[in-house]
Amino acid sequence: MSDPQKLYEGKAKILYPTDDPQILVAYFKDDATAFNAAKRGSIQRKGEINCTLSARLFQMLESRGIPTHFIDCIAADRMRVRSLNIFPLEVVVRNIAAGSLCKQTGLPLGTVLKNPLVEFFYKNDALGDPLLTRDRLLLLELATPQQVDRLREMALEIDRLLVEFFASCQITLVDFKLEFGLDEAGQIVLADEISPDTCRLWNQLETDPNRRVLDKDRFRQDLGDVEAAYEQVLSRVLSAIN
Ligand code: UDP
Repeated sequence: MSDPQKLYEGKAKILYPTDDPQILVAYFKDDATAFNAAKRGSIQRKGEINCTLSARLFQMLESRGIPTHFIDCIAADRMRVRSLNIFPLEVVVRNIAAGSLCKQTGLPLGTVLKNPLVEFFYKNDALGDPLLTRDRLLLLELATPQQVDRLREMALEIDRLLVEFFASCQITLVDFKLEFGLDEAGQIVLADEISPDTCRLWNQLETDPNRRVLDKDRFRQDLGDVEAAYEQVLSRVLSAIN
């Protein structure tokens, strides 16, 4: 269904303008995609769960000094956010080897990394979101050298805070993807979402490599019980925060 008012439609969210040009509304969809949208489906209640989880995690990060685009929730699946000039970058932080890191390096799944690894990917569907070197990122002028340093520093600080938070929910934060933007003052602000769509989360109470998965890998790899996993993350996060 086409919606004439929408400003931008991504795979998991739609952005709507408001009367205030500085403020947008992000609507979180139940639609799920994987492998650059080659696999499509829907996860029941995903929109509400991801909106609620992102809101709580953004609030937690704000309270610890990380600027985020989050303003407030206006419905279970809708949040008001600050309008930013988004970097066309996916900033991935990894604590444990999984996904493309294993595929591209041969590191076995589950290898604990000595230090968190920060990687930049070019947010460009037509090119398949390629991994960038720092020099390629600068060549394409996707950010300045100072901004790259700050993005890396913020990503590592967010990792430190999220690892500790998820551990309090008996969840291991394996890896995750962040997006950032610039506000009018030129300050770098955390944007997008933090949810089981964008994080790999392993249940510390399970050792079985399939049963422990509480994130979108259940959808990507057809592991089943996708909805139950998302509900599990939500209920643990809400009890840890309340
Ligand atoms: N990720 C994401 N969106 C993307 C690509 C990756 O949210 O377009 C997240 C993914 O859920 C995982 C982390 O970033 O938590 C690292 O993903 P990876 O590079 O291993 O990619 P994948 O395994 O999805 O190919």
